[in-house]
Amino acid sequence: MSLEDAALAVVRRLREHGHEALWAGGCVRDMLLGVEPADIDVATDAPPDTIVELFRRTRKVGVQFGVVLVGQGRHWIETATFRTDLDYRDGRRPEQVVFTTAEEDTKRRDFTINGLFYDPLERKVIDYVNGQADLDAKIIRAIGNPEERFAEDHLRMLRAVRFACRLGFTIDAATAEAITRHADRIQRISAERVREELEKMLAHPSRAEAVNWLARLGLLVYLPLGCTWPDGRLARACQILTALPKDADLILALAALLADTPATQAARMARNLRCSNQQTGDLSWLLTRCSQLDQVADMRPATFKKLAVHPRFSDLLALHQAVGTADGRPLEANRAARRRLAGIPQDQLAPPPLVTGEDLIALGLQPGPDFSRILDAMYDAQLDGEFADRPTALIHLREEVGGQ
Ligand code: ATP
Ligand code: MG
Repeated sequence: MSLEDAALAVVRRLREHGHEALWAGGCVRDMLLGVEPADIDVATDAPPDTIVELFRRTRKVGVQFGVVLVGQGRHWIETATFRTDLDYRDGRRPEQVVFTTAEEDTKRRDFTINGLFYDPLERKVIDYVNGQADLDAKIIRAIGNPEERFAEDHLRMLRAVRFACRLGFTIDAATAEAITRHADRIQRISAERVREELEKMLAHPSRAEAVNWLARLGLLVYLPLGCTWPDGRLARACQILTALPKDADLILALAALLADTPATQAARMARNLRCSNQQTGDLSWLLTRCSQLDQVADMRPATFKKLAVHPRFSDLLALHQAVGTADGRPLEANRAARRRLAGIPQDQLAPPPLVTGEDLIALGLQPGPDFSRILDAMYDAQLDGEFADRPTALIHLREEVGGQ
């Protein structure tokens, strides 16, 4: 069953039981833009308990918000009761909702292009907010009074930027002004939610545009990224971002954005954004290793192989290339690194060590600090190609141990 069929089946059953039911929000926007929607949300006047009664497989997710997941084939369709959000505390999530009509439901939604409904049975768009006109004119415009909407929920400021960049739209002047006035309040939003939004922006090819918008609207300085930069530095960061491969992820994009920031400071920012330890480690690895690639020609094989085996090595090449491109420098070192990588057979990049601690013990050594030093030196020699089989490796090992 396709996603559309699943979402259609949900609407049909609700209608058969006398309820109003429509597709709502982002999926309508995407369909009108000719983009395949990632999910289709249903909105209905049926209260959650009724939704649960009408379908065989349901999961209540946001019961206080009236949201139920309805299982259809392999899809779970988010089915939400029309609602008005009440009681925004401190610009975050609403504390309370009341169930209402479709028209009222649009008023709680953020932007006109996200406030559309679609009747999949009649194949008709239902537009209470002039969303279709804004879609045609490529405008992000807050529904209702922008000042109030951003005061209610500060995260919407980042959503505005995300939709503008992703769709290549502009932000309506009154909406943009309201964002500028509320920009400092983005600090009150939890780091996790900010990270999620930033990830969606920075993992998208329009990432440089996103950073420009964030700067222009005054949001960038309030994000936990330490980007209180003069214009020149911002422009350079955007040039590096522009030169990244399209499919760069959050960490590679952060590395590009923070290419001129010391790695320890960048790692602190990643932690402030609640990035995982793995992500934080990858970010500082990218930043500390980037300039080392300039010396790739002088690197001994072991050093190069240990670098190249890192799961982020292709990102390192991409970062190094983007920085070089932004600086207008020749990309010879980058090309040399790629050639060198291509010249190494896959099984020689990180082969299993030919000698181990057992061999050292067999030679009468006690485990201790020398142990790992000798093993590291042996592994480096192996990677350098000084020996290729175990008998030769053992001869080297005896020399190494004898030289102690
Ligand atoms: P995406 O393609 O990123 O999923 P989307 O528009 O579907 O975009 P969602 O976050 O999935 O965005 O939200 C679905 C709908 O819920 C939106 O289209 C919008 O109508 C409404 N919505 C989501 N978040 C907010 C918010 N913070 N304030 C107001 N309305 C919101
Ligand atoms: Mg969505």
